[in-house]
Order: sequence, then structure tokens, then C-alpha cells
Amino acid sequence: MDLGIKGKRALVCASSKGLGLGCAEALAGAGVDLVMNARGTDALEAEAARLRAEYGVTIQTLACDVTTPDGQEQVINAAQGVDILVSNAGGPPPGLWSDWDRDDFIKALDANMLTPITFMKALLPAMMEKGWGRVVNITSQSVRAPIPALGLSNAARTGLTGYVAGTSRQVAPHGVTINNLLPGIHATDRADSLDGGVAAQKGISMDEARAERAATIPARRYGTRQEFGAACAFLCSQHAGFIVGQNILLDGGATNLTM
Ligand code: NAP
Repeated sequence: MDLGIKGKRALVCASSKGLGLGCAEALAGAGVDLVMNARGTDALEAEAARLRAEYGVTIQTLACDVTTPDGQEQVINAAQGVDILVSNAGGPPPGLWSDWDRDDFIKALDANMLTPITFMKALLPAMMEKGWGRVVNITSQSVRAPIPALGLSNAARTGLTGYVAGTSRQVAPHGVTINNLLPGIHATDRADSLDGGVAAQKGISMDEARAERAATIPARRYGTRQEFGAACAFLCSQHAGFIVGQNILLDGGATNLTM
């Protein structure tokens, strides 16, 4: 399917690996020029070079931490006038409800709620002026059904979800859509690190920890970054202009909901 976005320009935050990289690659495959970002340079430069070679798009790279004011300023300057924003950052650490103090919450809110809000506030006005724009925020299945060990994520991402619910309806009259993609378990470094914690805690191997978790998913496997990226690119396409303020689960059926 022609997504109809060839020649557009996108900022994809936190995109040297995992789900962000899946989104960057799918957009590059649709002919979209990119600003790619991560804190580390090695994977970022390697993946940007690969995507340039494979898809012939223009890619600017920016190595900085998107959760810091300095990083946000750099990214916003580089991304002025983009047509598409994909917000993403690392997730907060797991723990128990009683572990976290105010500083832990502020850090999680900064990274997973206020950072995407900062990018939307900075980049939405130009999209609205042009009468076309797409925003996709990578959140988590934890906003539909809490993951007990990820209380910081449950809290911060639900706050972002509430903000998007109202804001998406305010910008829709200007041809701009905002939606959230809610990943369930995908085979990325983040999943490895969570599985590593379970393996250590239970005294089992990584393969056993993965197999245990896959068995809880109706699709009986983890998602791939390519599948995730394809869904993101569709939400950014010309065909998705009537999808507004939605929270779309990509979880192989893991979240047991009727609606
Ligand atoms: P990942 O495989 O660990 O990749 C994270 C990517 O983001 C890397 O490119 C990393 O590069 C970059 N990054 C992390 N923190 C950053 C920051 N502060 N500033 C700029 N770049 C940053 O993670 P993932 O699995 O793709 O997860 C992406 C998001 O989805 C996370 O918030 C995660 O919690 C959420 N999620 C993932 C799953 C899953 O199963 N994978 C499920 C639910 C939710 P550098 O380290 O070089 O910065």
C-alpha cells in the first residue's frame, strides 16, 4: 500500500534500537526523511547509515537525552517544521509500590509524560499551520491494564494518555492527528532486560523466562519491531486522517479486554 507520505519529514525520538528503530525504518521505507535520535552514537550512526543506503532518504542524527531540557532544545531545533512526530524514550525501572519517592516519580513523569508533551507543544503549531500533521506516542499496554511491577510507567504514561485525549480533539480541526501506540511484549533490549530480572529472581535461564512470558500471550510469541513500525507508519499515513485520539494495543492479545 502506498502510504502517501513520500517526501514528508519526521522526528523519531529514541530510535537507534527497538520500537523507535522499527518506526524509523517503516517511515524511511515510505520515503520519509528523518531526524533520528538516541543518547549513544554507535547504534544511532550505524542504523542511520543503513537506512540511508537502503531507502535513499535524508537522515539527520542527534545524539542527546530527550528527557533533559538541553536534549529537548537540541531536538526541537533540529526538528523544526517536521510533518510527523514519533515520541519515545526509555521506560522507568521496575519495583514495588513502596520503593519510589518523589524524585523517582518526577523522573518518570519527566521522561514518559512531560517529554512527549514538550515535543508536541513545540512541533504541533507548524503542523497546524500547514494543515497536516501526525503524532504517534509510544506508550505501553500498561495504560489499559496495569503491570504491577511497573508502577512508575503505569502512572506517567496514563498521565500522557489523558493529555492526548483532550489535545488530539483540539488539533484535529487543523488536519493533525495524535494517537498512541501501546506495545505489549516485543523482542527488544527492553524486553531482554525485564526477562533478565525475572530469570535472576526465579533462578531460571533467559530462554525459560522468555518461554514463560510468551506462553501468557495468546499469539504465543513476542512482537517484532518491524510489526510495530508498520502500525506506526500506517497511523502516520494519508489513510489514517480519521483516526484521532486512539490508544491502539499491539500486544498479541495479551491484554484481556472486550473493548
Ligand atoms: P529499547 O530496545 O531499550 O530501545 C530504546 C531506544 O531508545 C534505544 O535506541 C535507546 O538508545 C533510546 N533511548 C532510551 N532512552 C533515551 C533517552 N532518554 N533519550 C534518547 N534516546 C533514548 O526499548 P524498546 O523496547 O524499544 O522500548 C521503547 C519504549 O516502549 C520504552 O519506553 C519501553 O518502556 C516501552 N515498552 C516497550 C515494550 C517492549 O516489550 N519492548 C513493552 C511496553 C512498553 P540509547 O540507549 O543510546 O539512548
